[in-house]
Amino acid sequence: MSVRTRIAPSPTGDPHVGTAYIALFNQCFARAQGGQFVLRIEDTDQQRSTPESEKAILDSLRWLGLDWDEGPDVGGPHGPYRQSERGDIYRKYCDELVEKGHAFHCYRTAEELEQLREQLREAGRTALKPSDLALPPEEMERRRAAGEPYVVRMHVPETGTCMVEDLLRGPIEIDWAQVDAQILLKSDGMPTYHLANVVDDHLMEITHVLRGEEWINSAPKHKLLYEYFDWVMPVLCHLPLLRNPDKTKLSKRKNPTSILYYQRAGFMPEALLNYLGRMGWSMPDEREKFSLEEMLEHFDIHRVSLGGPVFDVEKLSWLNGLW
Ligand code: GLU
Repeated sequence: MSVRTRIAPSPTGDPHVGTAYIALFNQCFARAQGGQFVLRIEDTDQQRSTPESEKAILDSLRWLGLDWDEGPDVGGPHGPYRQSERGDIYRKYCDELVEKGHAFHCYRTAEELEQLREQLREAGRTALKPSDLALPPEEMERRRAAGEPYVVRMHVPETGTCMVEDLLRGPIEIDWAQVDAQILLKSDGMPTYHLANVVDDHLMEITHVLRGEEWINSAPKHKLLYEYFDWVMPVLCHLPLLRNPDKTKLSKRKNPTSILYYQRAGFMPEALLNYLGRMGWSMPDEREKFSLEEMLEHFDIHRVSLGGPVFDVEKLSWLNGLW
């Protein structure tokens, strides 16, 4: 089976250098093995997603010299590649989970949820479990009959640990006690990230998920969803987060994070891409200046170091001078 990777940006703001960094590694990982790289737009947050942001993401990635085999603007056999156009697919799979008893309708109101969270805090617990959310059967029936709004949530174990295998990090253990009965479908019928992401990675035949380490805590929920559907889970690989020189998470207060900034400031796209390629990765001969083609030729994911790559505009300016 051929290797297939993807990036799945949410079009909710300026195109972020972190998106290009993840895209670069996904593109190199797939193409170095003769595979394909897919771009999928995760725009299920309809309040925050805009077509302008989507366009800016695609334009910025292309400006950097990146490209994809399937995506919203090039099509492909597994589309549409925009989640807002795939609502029926997610609802169908969500119904299947409810029918199999892996997910349930939850009629709890916002006020009740707030109270439940407060009770949890007092009890020293962190996650809302299906048993916390259950209503007495008559009350549940009353709300259902009255057509009150509900969400669909997944069942999750109350105790024990979940073991997730990561290509770079090895086995990662996460306590089920920290994992909520995650909402899969919102009351407006839109899926959450977790449901849409798992369904799409499966239907789009993604074999390797390379994404930022901020998603590690989502992995147990995803693993469980793959088990519920009886699907093979892609190989997971969580790349280290980009950091400011003071080692905090990259933030626009300390470093410009929008690709548009670098474009407008006259940076060479080759230099920015080169710099992103050096985020946690290095050439076998440690040379500082290299092109996308050279990176591809020598790409090996196991050369990624997890030490928290520093994105420093000063260093980028220096590299820019070499191009
Ligand atoms: N939509 C998520 C994001 O904005 C995708 C995360 C993932 O790659 O699973 O980064």
